[in-house]
Amino acid sequence: METIPLRGTDKIIVPIRLTPQSKFKFECSPGVPCFKLCCSDLFLPLTPYDIIRIRDFLKLTTDEFLLKYTEPFILPKSKLPIVRLKMLDNKDKTCPFLGEEGCTIYEVRPLACRYYPLGFGLFRNRDKGKNEEMYYLVKEGFCQGLDSGKEMTVEEYRRSQGIPELEEPIKDWAEIIMRKESWGPVEVPEKSVELFFMVSSNPDRFRAFVFESKFLEIFEVDEKTLEEIKKDDLKLLQFGFKWLKTVLYGENLVKRKKVSPSVKKVKPF
Ligand code: SF4
Ligand code: SF4
Repeated sequence: METIPLRGTDKIIVPIRLTPQSKFKFECSPGVPCFKLCCSDLFLPLTPYDIIRIRDFLKLTTDEFLLKYTEPFILPKSKLPIVRLKMLDNKDKTCPFLGEEGCTIYEVRPLACRYYPLGFGLFRNRDKGKNEEMYYLVKEGFCQGLDSGKEMTVEEYRRSQGIPELEEPIKDWAEIIMRKESWGPVEVPEKSVELFFMVSSNPDRFRAFVFESKFLEIFEVDEKTLEEIKKDDLKLLQFGFKWLKTVLYGENLVKRKKVSPSVKKVKPF
């Protein structure tokens, strides 16, 4: 691949679509002179799975984690709200998890950190009638890892970073965002946006919503699922994604009960 000379804070997205089989060279280790330079002043989105994994690693409650380390963020294309890591209020705006030796949450570092220097997108191929992934390279002037080290495919790199096992459980969430992006500047009701944010950011709030509101009077949820989502946050998230697809896109993945007179006028949101 052609080398593009960059310096300092220069940043470009290489306008070449990469596939899982595309090859590139990249090497990063604590010995590189630019070590840690890429961990400052970032717009670092967190997936719902990132949130529960980092929260558990830090032994915090969801509220404690969200309050201390995150801030709301509107995704530019879909206009859907998620959370991102809040950079420290210092000169370099460093990531709160950057320590002397590098990343202090390395085992549970966010998906976006694992992808770097690759960028990732999902889009709907209408001709083929399916979703397709798209990758590209992000080149920054300070990063000396690109174009050095051994050549590997995009897929090899993704596996080396543990990406597939973090993406698979949230593929419905990624699809919700991708669909909204493909709609263009269509407004969605504010309440739907709030529901998306609740499921995307706070499993405790969503669990309370399921078990402590009229939710179970309106939606059919079998006993096995109920038992699972009571105690397992990932299962709860995955149930939440299906429910969002039901209420946002009418997919009927979580069935509504037949309307009974007692709940006829009750809305879940
Ligand atoms: S979470 Fe870790 S890898 Fe990601 S920006 Fe922060 S310090 Fe760097
Ligand atoms: S090589 Fe790039 S990714 Fe690795 S530490 Fe340096 S700037 Fe960060």
